[in-house]
Amino acid sequence: MTVSARDMVIAARKGGYGIGAFNINNLEWTQSVLKGAQEANAPIIVQTSMGAAKYMGGYKLCVDMVNDLIDSMGITVPIALHLDHGNYEAAKACIEAGYSSIMFDGSALPFEENLAKTRELAQICKDKGISLEAEVGAIGGEEDGIVGMGECADPDECKAIADCGVDMLACGIGNIHGVYPEGWPGLRFDVLDAIIAKVGDDLPLVLHGGSGIPDAMVQEAVRKGVSKINVNTELQLVFAAKTREYIEAGKDKEGKGFDPRKLLAPGFAACVDMVKYKIDVFGSTNKA
Ligand SMILES: [Zn+2]
Repeated sequence: MTVSARDMVIAARKGGYGIGAFNINNLEWTQSVLKGAQEANAPIIVQTSMGAAKYMGGYKLCVDMVNDLIDSMGITVPIALHLDHGNYEAAKACIEAGYSSIMFDGSALPFEENLAKTRELAQICKDKGISLEAEVGAIGGEEDGIVGMGECADPDECKAIADCGVDMLACGIGNIHGVYPEGWPGLRFDVLDAIIAKVGDDLPLVLHGGSGIPDAMVQEAVRKGVSKINVNTELQLVFAAKTREYIEAGKDKEGKGFDPRKLLAPGFAACVDMVKYKIDVFGSTNKA
């Protein structure tokens, strides 16, 4: 069974390491992430965006699939099933469906409304033993075809949201979703320090857009207080690259190479390796 992410991120915050949060898109993706975690003996967060959950068949299917695979694959490391960037309705739906962790992203709402909804959801999640991640300010990324250089959260707003009783806080420190643009100036550790000065040393912080930030920079963020790092794009890129290699080598035309169990196998293996690599960079190998 999946577990709340609360204990794993608190242990990570205290122990100075980070928990990998990997986005899933289908059955193979889910299996590869679980296999990687088990082989690394690491606790992880498996997460779905609203769109990916819809693509796979809905929230209930995701809950059933992840729990069934934990069982059938003999997974013994702690696994949380988390909603990534959920709106208010999706957060409620996932709490009902059986997710063990929720991100409510009210960053696009007026701040007072984000605060009120985060406070309400924090109470519901607390009562049900579900962990809650909230977001302050926008995380940069591609918008209308223009990739920004990353945005930064306001430390006072971070403090107000933290005081709602959330388990994890996502705050922009110059990070970006997707592929990082040329000339990106790097993470803003001065902003991270200012946020920690306000919210205190105990609150696990979340780094979104973890794909493509140099490893040393991620490790510095982890040392300072980032306890959950989201990885999505990098898995997609290695899966696509390995699948392309297979097809360009003509292997789908040899024998039964077109069988999806063969066609998707190189991408699957590459995802397992990437998950283990990331877990190692974050320092959570053998922390299960
Ligand atoms: Zn994100």
